[in-house]
Amino acid sequence: MTITAPPGMLSRPCSPKWATRRRPERESFGGELAKIAVALGQPFMPWQRDAAMVGCEIDDETGLPAYRKVLITVPRQQGKTTLYLSWQISRCLSPRWAQPQRSAFTAQSGKDARDKWMDEIFPLIRRSRALKPGAGLVSRIYEGMGNEYIKFTNGSLIRLLSTSTSSGHSKTLHQAVLDEIWHDTDSRREQGLGPSMLTIADAQVLMCSTAGTDASVVLDRYMELGRAAVQADSGNGIAYIEYSAPDGWDPLDEESYYGFMPALCPAPPCRCGGGKWRHTVTLDAIRSERASLEPPEFARAYGNVPDRSGQRASMMSGGWAACADPGSQLAGPVALAFAVAPDESPWPGATSIAVAGRRADGLGHGELTEPVRPGTAGLVDRLAELADRHDACVLVMNGAGAAAAFQKELIERGFAVVPPGKDPPPGKRRLQVVGAREYAQGCGALVQDVSNGRWRHLGQAPLDAAVAGARTRPLADAWAWSWRGAKADTGPVEAVTLARHGHATFGVAPPAPFFGGWRLGRSHIDICHRAHTPGPHRGAGPAGASRPRAADRDRRCPVRPRLGGIQDVRGDVARARLVQFRGYRRLAAGQGRAASTLKRSREAMSGRPGPGECPRAARPG
Ligand SMILES: [Zn+2]
Repeated sequence: MTITAPPGMLSRPCSPKWATRRRPERESFGGELAKIAVALGQPFMPWQRDAAMVGCEIDDETGLPAYRKVLITVPRQQGKTTLYLSWQISRCLSPRWAQPQRSAFTAQSGKDARDKWMDEIFPLIRRSRALKPGAGLVSRIYEGMGNEYIKFTNGSLIRLLSTSTSSGHSKTLHQAVLDEIWHDTDSRREQGLGPSMLTIADAQVLMCSTAGTDASVVLDRYMELGRAAVQADSGNGIAYIEYSAPDGWDPLDEESYYGFMPALCPAPPCRCGGGKWRHTVTLDAIRSERASLEPPEFARAYGNVPDRSGQRASMMSGGWAACADPGSQLAGPVALAFAVAPDESPWPGATSIAVAGRRADGLGHGELTEPVRPGTAGLVDRLAELADRHDACVLVMNGAGAAAAFQKELIERGFAVVPPGKDPPPGKRRLQVVGAREYAQGCGALVQDVSNGRWRHLGQAPLDAAVAGARTRPLADAWAWSWRGAKADTGPVEAVTLARHGHATFGVAPPAPFFGGWRLGRSHIDICHRAHTPGPHRGAGPAGASRPRAADRDRRCPVRPRLGGIQDVRGDVARARLVQFRGYRRLAAGQGRAASTLKRSREAMSGRPGPGECPRAARPG
């Protein structure tokens, strides 16, 4: 039978970016894996067969597998599971190996591994006519929690080991699979397995993973070793196969997917393998993943491109020490915030409370109000007490995660969520519930402050540790602190980030370069502003009048509530409302930007005019 490729396929070659080359002169038992894959009902696609043929080469001189370690990194959903499961079953069944063999499957989290076995691997085996228990090869599948295994009639065994169990594992292992090693932030998993394979000359370690993040130190190291081995054409030690998006890849360029997603079918329904094998992924499936994932996560999972957004975390920790000032003090409005460590973290319930604001010199400042609390008992009372003590302009909390559980209780305790520009009802304090996008902005802003040297902290140990151990995750087109993989309780840095964000939202007026000062008139407000762009300001001047103005000097102009066209100023003041006050008009309290900007200008006018403030503002009108 001739196998004809459908149109389009030949013009869309999919090839690995890096791959140890096949040495055809060497024997390979990759074909044995392919037969197991057929028995599992998931015949190898060409990329899986190629990878197996290389990874299963036998060194002529030693008669042992040429590669003790095999690292395969491909995008998600490309068929890694079939590849390593076939490898493991083949190891257990092939007469090539002295029986019985012991193989281990490990994952970073015991739960992830167990889910994978329950949902994917056990059903695959049970559906297989040759491999289902009782058919002669597999004697038992055991699902007992913490003791999951597949036992073969010849005595071989595939066991599920979590990172913690593998460290105490003393039994001999002939083979180990390390699934998704990008999760590994240290070598605990490898080191746990090492001793049990030390004396096994023909042992093999199979590592499979998609690309990782900055925290993926184990994957990074092996990728470096793997690429070096490919370049050196060493032919032993580590075999390396990487399918990933090209440099400068555009994730929206769907045509490009065919170049590095080896399981993606160019012409569904798939007839590409002429009945012998099938592609397992369609473009529609990738599209729907693209729609549901954040862009850096999509690029990581499906482009197999590392997510380096965490570099910000190290940028932050780099500048952090330089921002320490044990004598630093807050001046002016203070924002209060808290963060609670999630239950699945190593610090469940640990609660950090922080305040942030500005110092007298204008630099930002954040600190923990007290040691990290071991649990959430009494939290709401404590927050209310602190809000009163500091007269906090806002209490900030993360709307997602473990803190969210306290929103209702805080509202019952006298906090109110009110949009910016509105004051909380009398007797209530403002509560700000930060969403994903806002939180990501807040994280970026704190790192900016730290790296620009515009931030100060007291050098408190839990906060320093949180910054040093911080990890990030993609969030809302940006990134945020991550508990996963963090080396210390992230709560302190999350609380400071939130407090800083709350202060930026409610504690200060945003910079308004036009305003120098203001003056109350009987029927108008005088606003003195500094020209900020060359050329005349359109519409600047008294309401209803329009006269050309010189741009290069300070000016004073009466501004009525309905301003005519001063850029930006119009928007600010037009939202404000003038009210009668002791015969004068003044801006109503709580008018957001305009009110606070003018308030600041007024303060500047009564005090010493600072640089950039219009000297005319201080003159009596
Ligand atoms: Zn196909």
